[in-house]
Amino acid sequence: MSNHNLPSQPEIILMSDPRLAAVPVRENGESLIDLAADDRFRVDTSRAFVNALSPSISKVRSSVAERLLVAERYLPTGIAILLREGHRPVSVQQFLFDRYSRKLQASQPNLSGEQLYQEVSKFVAPPSLAPHSTGGAVDVTLIELTSGQELDMGSPFNGDPVATQGATFTYAKNIKPVAVSNRRVLIDAMREAGFINYPTEWWHWSFGDRYWALLSAHAAAVYGSVEAG
Ligand SMILES: [Zn+2]
Repeated sequence: MSNHNLPSQPEIILMSDPRLAAVPVRENGESLIDLAADDRFRVDTSRAFVNALSPSISKVRSSVAERLLVAERYLPTGIAILLREGHRPVSVQQFLFDRYSRKLQASQPNLSGEQLYQEVSKFVAPPSLAPHSTGGAVDVTLIELTSGQELDMGSPFNGDPVATQGATFTYAKNIKPVAVSNRRVLIDAMREAGFINYPTEWWHWSFGDRYWALLSAHAAAVYGSVEAG
């Protein structure tokens, strides 16, 4: 893998940005499919806590599944994408948002209500806009196919952006060169497949949701929130 630098971080549009809420949704009705039931995909089933909350964690919209296969074609031989989280019920999103709000408020009690909302939104999407509830968002990482070992991506998956001094930001400068290189591989493959990254989380990518529409200049999202069947 080459070892060139990541480019500078472009403007970060947060999930709390009013431009995001203004994006219309023209639901295309695509079904959710379960990647855990298809051996072309690799799914992390070890996260028992989240799995118990989100039985649909391994489901994504059908076009998203196809695009993950496209992304894999751009990876070096022996490297694969591991899905850590796909669809998430709205109720779970609310739970995660509230839990992180309480954590942040405890550590930074001087934040105003609006500041707290903005800070929490860097890490957990507001439930009304939750990309994972559309089935269009995926949390992914890279693994070695033979060992199943995750590559060094520079921060823990779902790492806290504050506790990691911002190392979760996709274009973080405070990560090792090998992690920069691995992120570059992930970024290039996911972009080639048409996914858009959420820049405070190197692992979060989406297609078809509001964030994708806004960042890729589409007039509308094609996926709104869905309940898993
Ligand atoms: Zn995510």
